[in-house]
Amino acid sequence: MVGMATRTMLPRLARLAVSVLLPQSCVLCGAGVAADAVWPLCLPCSIRLRAERAADARRERCAICGKPLISRHGRCTRCRTASYDFDSVYPLFRYADDIRSLVLAYKGGRRSLSGFFAEELAAVVAGRFSGRVVIPVPPRPGKLRRTGWDQVEAIVSILERKYDIVVLRALVRTAGSEQKVLNLEERAANMRGTIRLAPRAVVPVDPVLFDDVLTTGATLSACAGCLKSGSANRVDAVTIAAD
Ligand SMILES: [Zn+2]
Ligand SMILES: [Zn+2]
Repeated sequence: MVGMATRTMLPRLARLAVSVLLPQSCVLCGAGVAADAVWPLCLPCSIRLRAERAADARRERCAICGKPLISRHGRCTRCRTASYDFDSVYPLFRYADDIRSLVLAYKGGRRSLSGFFAEELAAVVAGRFSGRVVIPVPPRPGKLRRTGWDQVEAIVSILERKYDIVVLRALVRTAGSEQKVLNLEERAANMRGTIRLAPRAVVPVDPVLFDDVLTTGATLSACAGCLKSGSANRVDAVTIAAD
C-alpha cells in the first residue's frame, strides 16, 4: 500500500515542483496558465483561437488550397492555373497574427503546443476525414540532427495515442545527390529532399497528408504524387496554417 501511494504521489509532487520552479504563462498574452495545463495557452486565448477556426470553416474557401476567397470563384487565382498532385488542402487556420506567433513559438521549441495543435487537428479529421489514415510529411534531410525533434511527428504521435486516429509513416525524405556537384538551384532542391515511399509501406486508397504550414504546396504535391504512384487515388491534405 505504501508503495502504491508513493507511486501516485510522486508525479503530483514532481508537477508541483515544476510549477513552482517554472510557472507557465500564455504564449500569446502572457497571462498565467494553470500549472497542470497541458499546453501553454490561457483559456480565453484557446477559446478565441477555436472560434477563429470555426469562423474560417464557414468562410468561402478555394476548393484546392483552402485559402479564403474574396469572391465566389471556387478556386483562388493561383489554383486556377497551377496543377497539384493532391486533391485538396484544408488549413486549420490562416497564418496571421496569433497563429503566426503560435507556430513560431512551436517551431522555436515550445513543444507542448503540439497538444493544442493535435486537439484542433483531431477535431477537423473527425469532422471532414473521418476514418481515413493520416500520413505525416517527412522532415527534411538533416532536420532531426539539427533541431533534435520533428514538429509534424510530435503532433501526429498525439493523434494516434490520444485520439485513436490511424497514422501511417508511409513516406521518407532522403537527400538527393552529393552537394558539391550541384549548382545553387539544385542545392536548394537537394535540401528539400526527395520524397519516396517508405520500404514495405502499404498505401491506403484515400490517405490524408499532414504538414505544419502550407506555403507553395510543392512539398504536399510531391508527397501526394508519391502516394498516387503507390495505391492512393485520392489524397487530401490538412495543415495547421496556410501562409
Ligand atoms: Zn492568453
Ligand atoms: Zn487555391
